[in-house]
Amino acid sequence: MDYKFKLLKIHCAGCALALEQDLNTIEGVCAEINFVTKILKLTITTENPAETLTEVKTAISDFDHSIEIAEYQDEQDLELKEKRERNINIVRLVVAFAIMIGTYFIPLLWLKIVLFALDYILVAYKVLISAGRNIIHGKFFDENFLMTIASIGAFVISEFVEAISVMLLFEVGTILEDVAVGRSRKAIKNLLEIKQPYANLVVGEEEQKVALSEIVVGNIIRVKPGEKIPLDGEITEGTSYLDMSVLTGETKEKIVQVGDKVLSGSINGASVLLVRVEKTEGESTISRVVEMVEKATESKAKSEKFISKFSKYYTPIVIVLAVIIAFVPPIFSGYSNFVDFAYRALCFLVVSCPCALVISVPLTYFAGIGSFARCGIMVKGANFVEALSKVNSVVFDKTGTLTEGNFEITEIVCFGDHTEEEILETVAYAESYSNHRIAKSILKTYKEKTQKEINSAWITDYTEFAGKGIKANIFMQDVLVGNAKLFAENEISVYTTNKSGTVLYVAIGGNYSGYVVIDDVIKKDSARAVADLKAIGISDVVLCTGDEENVARAIAEKVGIKNSYCSMLPEDKVNVVTKRVQDGKTVAFVGDGINDAPSLASANVGIAMGGLGSDIAVEASDVIIMTDEPSKVAKAVKKAKKTHRIVLQNIIGTIGIKVLILGLIAFGVSGMWLAVFADVGVNLIAVINSLRTMLK
Ligand code: ADP
Ligand code: MG
Repeated sequence: MDYKFKLLKIHCAGCALALEQDLNTIEGVCAEINFVTKILKLTITTENPAETLTEVKTAISDFDHSIEIAEYQDEQDLELKEKRERNINIVRLVVAFAIMIGTYFIPLLWLKIVLFALDYILVAYKVLISAGRNIIHGKFFDENFLMTIASIGAFVISEFVEAISVMLLFEVGTILEDVAVGRSRKAIKNLLEIKQPYANLVVGEEEQKVALSEIVVGNIIRVKPGEKIPLDGEITEGTSYLDMSVLTGETKEKIVQVGDKVLSGSINGASVLLVRVEKTEGESTISRVVEMVEKATESKAKSEKFISKFSKYYTPIVIVLAVIIAFVPPIFSGYSNFVDFAYRALCFLVVSCPCALVISVPLTYFAGIGSFARCGIMVKGANFVEALSKVNSVVFDKTGTLTEGNFEITEIVCFGDHTEEEILETVAYAESYSNHRIAKSILKTYKEKTQKEINSAWITDYTEFAGKGIKANIFMQDVLVGNAKLFAENEISVYTTNKSGTVLYVAIGGNYSGYVVIDDVIKKDSARAVADLKAIGISDVVLCTGDEENVARAIAEKVGIKNSYCSMLPEDKVNVVTKRVQDGKTVAFVGDGINDAPSLASANVGIAMGGLGSDIAVEASDVIIMTDEPSKVAKAVKKAKKTHRIVLQNIIGTIGIKVLILGLIAFGVSGMWLAVFADVGVNLIAVINSLRTMLK
């Protein structure tokens, strides 16, 4: 059984990690906590899932009683509740602050102490209760515990104002942090709330509003102006324009008419459209996008792993240092300055909480991935953001990647007693099962020209050779359609032509019978794509194509690529990639087709053209460009670099400031105020810094 819950009041990423580990120790439970989305995913494989679920819930409240578990759906109510509680908290802290100031001026010492104590309880009771509960469950050294020790310690050595202010600052910091994290959560959620929850199903004359899950492939749905297209499909009636900015990040509108494919998530701009559904809810583009972004935050980057490892050692080390500071120096001075050193040790404890480190890194990646999504680049995980930032070699596929992949037939040549019509028909039949861009274009032209449909009864023994072509039996004759390589292997000699464009040689009944020249146009931004990559310092940009040399060279020249590899079979493309990887380069492979899938998978970062690319390519890739624009590659690398830079700033900044302040405290230069700053303040700065990734 799978469950999905929302965890409320889980403030610290480190705690989320620890809780996740705890839950996973329960038998038959697989738990995943996403700190940023606050979602707990459970897979329970025991015989009695309900019982195990109760066990899980007990384990969570044992872990920290303040964490609330809520059904995933009633999220909005929960948010309201959280907001209300936050407001109450703010009032409480303001009152406590006023009492503290007032009490400071009271001359009577005993009254002063009593009032300070009461005020302290008002400020700190929540933290104290949490700390107490956690100690009962054997959990020391969490944020609450450290704050409790530090502030009680300050109280004992008569630093009343300090004790209260530490707690005050801590609480204020937590609230601010909650707000900041909540903001970024919200910004990203808005990005994801792009799903239309229902569809207008057309049944005969009537129209019903139904849930997406009830729609099946082949249903006709009506999409009104202003509505989002709920599921992928094809227009059967109507003309309109679509705002696809959610998917592509571009504001330019696209005009669509009968026969055009539409992607879910686009907004219908002008008039009513009837759409025949082609993909169910789970498979439609927008669901895949949402799922991808949600999942993306789960796979962790190296720096994320580093930081959680670091924090594991950090806290114990600082606590040991605190103990040393409290007890060792006073030994030498006969305990006369014990209070002073105890105070320093307490400050150490405040700085020892690792939460500041743990939260900002995943948050940065999360915000980064959100901002990628906003410009039509889907990244499947934080680890790929990291890899993208290091890319120094880019291998481009040609067809469908640098070129549009819409081939036009420029010439049909026939030999012997074959006619042009016959050649075209043979090629169209041969291509009718293929998913290659060449096949799609040829079939389109064939159908337009002849108004005929393919009768598949005439096709037998069909085999496609990736990167070469097709062999089949058509109209009772053996047919071969493909490039010179395919013909050489089948020992049929062809006259090589010097045509500009891709030549498909045709053999019927074992004899070379003619050829078809097809041509493709280079995408508008292909040259810019290459130039942009060079501008950001990536000099190793190569073209890798299954096409022949003259075509490869012509295209490479036009887009500004010096190095091109031609006549590449899928496995040759993989070799080009792996050789570079072995040379220590970080390689991005950009492709679109089924035959690119192996290269996409073997590159450090596989980048697929998502709009038109085959499902398999999209599946095998790590990054998907929804707009099919190759220039987005450089943009993605740039964005990844920025995200990575912010991550580094946060890591170095937080660790640096903490260590610096620990030093100052050790030598008695600084007090508890700075300690709290090092804990909460630095955390806050890091969170705010991480939000910068969302800027353009
Ligand atoms: P690219 O690397 O440019 O995307 P491919 O590796 O898919 O190209 O194909 C390389 C060459 O193999 C094509 O230029 C074409 O000559 C031939 N070829 C591949 N698939 C087919 C097919 N379905 N029909 C005819 N020729 C094909
Ligand atoms: Mg291709």
